[in-house]
Amino acid sequence: MVVMTPEAGEAEIAAVRERLETTGVHVLVLPGELTTAIGAIGDPERVAGLGLEGMAGVDRVVPISRPYKLASSELAHHEPTVFAVDGHTIGAPSTFALIAGPCTVESREQTLQVARTVAAAGACMLRGGAFKPRTSPFAFKGLGAPGLEILAAAREETGLPVVTELLDAAHAALVAEHADVIQIGARNMQNYALLEVAGKLGKPVLLKRGLSSSLDELLMAADYVLKEGNERVILCERGIRTFETATRFTLDLSAVPWLKLHSHLPVIVDPSHASGDRRLVEPLARAAAAVGADGIIVEVHEDPEHALCDGPQALYASDFAGFAERVAAHAALDGRALS
Ligand code: PEP
Ligand code: MN
Repeated sequence: MVVMTPEAGEAEIAAVRERLETTGVHVLVLPGELTTAIGAIGDPERVAGLGLEGMAGVDRVVPISRPYKLASSELAHHEPTVFAVDGHTIGAPSTFALIAGPCTVESREQTLQVARTVAAAGACMLRGGAFKPRTSPFAFKGLGAPGLEILAAAREETGLPVVTELLDAAHAALVAEHADVIQIGARNMQNYALLEVAGKLGKPVLLKRGLSSSLDELLMAADYVLKEGNERVILCERGIRTFETATRFTLDLSAVPWLKLHSHLPVIVDPSHASGDRRLVEPLARAAAAVGADGIIVEVHEDPEHALCDGPQALYASDFAGFAERVAAHAALDGRALS
């Protein structure tokens, strides 16, 4: 929609109309009491390339259609995207995915112990980082390739598929060999080259929302993966930066129903990174279930006091079965059962 200034005359309106018509869009002139608006129906990309904002008499150009294409529920996709990871359904209105595990793979023993605990409590996937994005370059950055081997051993023993982060395109083949789901972390949501690499790996991608990214930006990031022919993308709300410092991030719960409305992709919530505080993880997990999330991803540790990363937000492994039961009961209120 091109909104003209109140002073714009016939000649200026005609010039805009003419320029729009060069792209083959359908043009509709809508005279109003104060100003004239000109509607252009057709390819928004071509209209955006016309430079209409710089033309005489143009006040502003307002895009009406959404900037994301493949992730949108507006266009081809009206049905929710549903797929299975090793037999566990993600995205169906009747299922709730409980993904749990340590923040970071620290040792074989630690990872296997947590994997057994979360498997016994009904988790459908094991999370755990082998390559960790750390704010300080001097912090523990994960075990790397040996960490992936440990995750594979945990899958072997428990049968749980593994979610792990792809941090660097150079590790793509290695990570794809061991992971069942490729995680793109919040800090890399706008690493477009990495998104394209992830899209080509032939595995589902768990895409976390950037800490300061809008939902439009999240869906456009998802488009990068989808355009590689990979339909299996899971969106994850993990908290955003706001003025509030009481919690590590601010969990944007409204993102869940908004994303479910505007996209066909499954949406899960990470209450661990959002809150940074294990005491808040359960209430936020229950809230995620209440607003229609397709699942949650949470951090769990046998001994959080000695965790090498994110200890304060890790649930005690000894509390996990109770946690899972209570969250599952909340998901059941929305007609969902653990997948
Ligand atoms: C994680 O899940 O291990 C992680 C680092 O999360 P985020 O990218 O959301 O900070
Ligand atoms: Mn973590």
